[in-house]
Amino acid sequence: MRKILFFLTAACMLIGCAKTNDQMVNDKKVNELSFTTEQAAYMSAIACNEAKGDLKALESAIHGGLEAELTVSQIKEALSQLYAYTGFPRSLNALGVLQNVVESRKSKDKRVIMGEDASPLSDDYDALKEGTRVQTQLTGKPFDYEFAPATDYYLKAHLFGDIFARDNLTYADRELVTVSALSGLQGVEPQLKAHIAGARNMGVTEEQLQGIVVALAANGLLDEAGRLAGLLETEWQQGKPNDAYAQYFVGQSYLQPYYGGVANVTFEPRCRNNWHIHHGAVQVLICVSGKGWYQEWGKQAVPLTPGTVIAIPEGVKHWHGAAADSWMQHLAIHTQEQPGATNEWLEPVSDEQYHTIR
Ligand code: MN
Repeated sequence: MRKILFFLTAACMLIGCAKTNDQMVNDKKVNELSFTTEQAAYMSAIACNEAKGDLKALESAIHGGLEAELTVSQIKEALSQLYAYTGFPRSLNALGVLQNVVESRKSKDKRVIMGEDASPLSDDYDALKEGTRVQTQLTGKPFDYEFAPATDYYLKAHLFGDIFARDNLTYADRELVTVSALSGLQGVEPQLKAHIAGARNMGVTEEQLQGIVVALAANGLLDEAGRLAGLLETEWQQGKPNDAYAQYFVGQSYLQPYYGGVANVTFEPRCRNNWHIHHGAVQVLICVSGKGWYQEWGKQAVPLTPGTVIAIPEGVKHWHGAAADSWMQHLAIHTQEQPGATNEWLEPVSDEQYHTIR
């Protein structure tokens, strides 16, 4: 196996569908996520904070992941893989945090499952050949980066050959890690988009991709959740009629609760909630589909489209809802919540107020 000491970025620009196969690693199919919902959520937070270089938030996510029974081997593998996407400096810093957290938890008899390292590869393993096969599955068709043949080789033989061959994470796990990390970086939207397609080709389901957005939001990674939500182009479930709050809405809305206190609210065209105030909490909205509006009292309405993130300050009178000609869905989560936080519901947004917004 060759050692290559350059950092890489994945230039996976081709989108398409690949057949999944039933190749097994550690008794898991390579094209299935091996995490529970909770484990996947912590893995997303770990990967995204690695990419951002937020070591304090990373430490907390690693504690959560270990409590949720992610193994040290899985987390270590994810942080190692990410050097190819975020560079050795971020990757090595993050591995250092993992090492410290593991030592500290062991000394306090807290839960630490080491897990097994990747199995050794056979003597005749051909990294370039296998990596080319894996890259073809990920991108949906053969990809040759002719402009930069050296980079083409690193991508195939090293990233998709040496790294992806390690069987302590499945291909689907690895794409969840990559998508979560790229969501934490500015200016790499083409690569994030390519890896959303890659994740789908590697067996990550729509629900699991949406779960990454939810996980990032639940872990306070709000702009990062918005960045991913804006690129997913996926259909979110509308959930059940929002009967408990119907009295505070004009029109029909629906509610779908998710992990970590995050809920998805669906508004039919013209549906909006009454003017209201969140006391003792900052409500964050992340628009995930359709078109809508957010308006604070006395101010111009702000358009909501997929990826828009709005943090509504405590004590501010406002409403949110769909556009007249479109459905709209937003995630909602309460942050910085103080004891006794409440919602104060006020008068409806009149047709006159609603129809004057532009
Ligand atoms: Mn609100």
